[in-house]
Amino acid sequence: MRKVLIAVATMLASTAATPLLAETFAIQAGHLIVDAAKPERGASTVIVTDGRIVRIDDGATAPAGATVVDLRDRTVLPGLIDVHVHLTSNAGEPWYKGLTPGYSEPYAATIGLKNALITARAGFTTVRDLGGLPAASIAMRDAVKDGGFPGPRILVSGPALSIIGGHGDGTVGLNPDLRHAIDASGEQFWVCTGPLECAKAVRRVAAYGVDVIKFHATGGVLDDGKIGLEQHFTDEEMKAICDTAHQLGLKAAAHAHGPKGIAAAVRAGVDSIEHGTFVDDAGVALMKAHGTYYSATLMAFSGLQQYLGKGVFTANAETKGRATLAVWGKGLNRAYKAGVPIALGTDAAVYPHGRNGEELGLMVTKGGMTPRDALIAATKGGADLLGLAAETGTLDVGKSADLIAVAGDPLVDPAAVLKIGYVMVEGRPIPLK
Ligand SMILES: [Zn+2]
Repeated sequence: MRKVLIAVATMLASTAATPLLAETFAIQAGHLIVDAAKPERGASTVIVTDGRIVRIDDGATAPAGATVVDLRDRTVLPGLIDVHVHLTSNAGEPWYKGLTPGYSEPYAATIGLKNALITARAGFTTVRDLGGLPAASIAMRDAVKDGGFPGPRILVSGPALSIIGGHGDGTVGLNPDLRHAIDASGEQFWVCTGPLECAKAVRRVAAYGVDVIKFHATGGVLDDGKIGLEQHFTDEEMKAICDTAHQLGLKAAAHAHGPKGIAAAVRAGVDSIEHGTFVDDAGVALMKAHGTYYSATLMAFSGLQQYLGKGVFTANAETKGRATLAVWGKGLNRAYKAGVPIALGTDAAVYPHGRNGEELGLMVTKGGMTPRDALIAATKGGADLLGLAAETGTLDVGKSADLIAVAGDPLVDPAAVLKIGYVMVEGRPIPLK
């Protein structure tokens, strides 16, 4: 019966695919940032047809038949990219929320759709969801892609691979009876031991149709584990995970806090280090040599600060949270000064969704980046890390129409991206209210 239902659902999904927009937009900008790394243009008009940028005119133009979008009092720029979100979770919910009646994987998908729209309204036209239940993540991604729900372009990892007792092992913090029951069910296939089992786990996650593989190279802050924030997977396990992902054409992202675990993940060939909290000089040198991206998730620390002591986290998580807060932004500053490639990632769901744009201000104040470099990380950096540089990240002719309008100049003031006046994702305007 389940198979039949799935077959019917697949047919419905394919017939409901959105037709191409037979529509041209003339986006009239007061100022236009085509590429955050280049000088901005004055008054310009971006012509968008069928979701693509087809031309950029000087001044305000309005080709016959085009829908004119008057943003002449705004700066128009490439849509922002967040490479680390958790759309299927909400911030501020107690750690046991997932164990309560009514919480299910279908319910998580609906949370994801709600948060996808909130994130698009904040000016983010592409996001990478790094960790969620597999079917919920895929359903959310595809529901937005099919055009039924407004949101950003979404890439998903599904569940992140973890060691037994690690950050992605859902039995951590539960009583022994519950632990045994969950282990015996075999449902946590992403918890693996040894290169062979980990390669198999990568393939099982990939078989869901995910876009990227995530693994927990080290311990994590927000679980109840007591085994620290240093290296969890062995060097050999990490190598098996990265090699298997790459062989399947998928990038690999490593959640990593401790310096030994960061270095091991980089040597294993991972494409990005997420958090990188305690990265040392040797680690950033290794990242630079390998071209490994750094995604600092400074907003996660802001979420920690907001919820510590409020009953949201367990006692062990609180202890780890205070340890990481003490070095907020230091890893990013070290990586930035060493010339490591940077992408904007925030860990949305650790703080309330929709505040993603505040990361740019933190990259400047805590990470020591210039506003321009923060904007480059938030546009071109993310596009490059995600393998989407030919599609988004700049407003070059031929690329997808992923653009936003803000008040002020984000090349000088990172807070300008908090004043969003217009958002377009793949040629579709996002309703802002
Ligand atoms: Zn995360």
